[in-house]
Amino acid sequence: MDAHVPAPDFFDYSCDRCGAPVCERVQIMNLALDNVDELFCLVCLAEEQEMGPVELAEFAKAYVYSRECFKTPWDAFKAKSCPRLSTGECYCQDTEK
Ligand SMILES: [Zn+2]
Ligand SMILES: [Zn+2]
Repeated sequence: MDAHVPAPDFFDYSCDRCGAPVCERVQIMNLALDNVDELFCLVCLAEEQEMGPVELAEFAKAYVYSRECFKTPWDAFKAKSCPRLSTGECYCQDTEK
């Protein structure tokens, strides 16, 4: 079988600590948390903030939603296309139903 799946163009960034791909919404979360010098994936970012990844995602999202300058690029991003959604490793999607 064709086991090798090339990295999608979707991930333009990678974590400065572990090298994991970082999607655009997680990049916005970094900025929202004033993490501007380095870019971390959600797991590393959560460790930095001494929070769990889900907790951190909720916290960052609340902040993003309160700021127009973050909300605009956030909304422009199509979270449904994030390939990590299916594995539950990315918390970039809007969870409210
Ligand atoms: Zn990382
Ligand atoms: Zn994502």
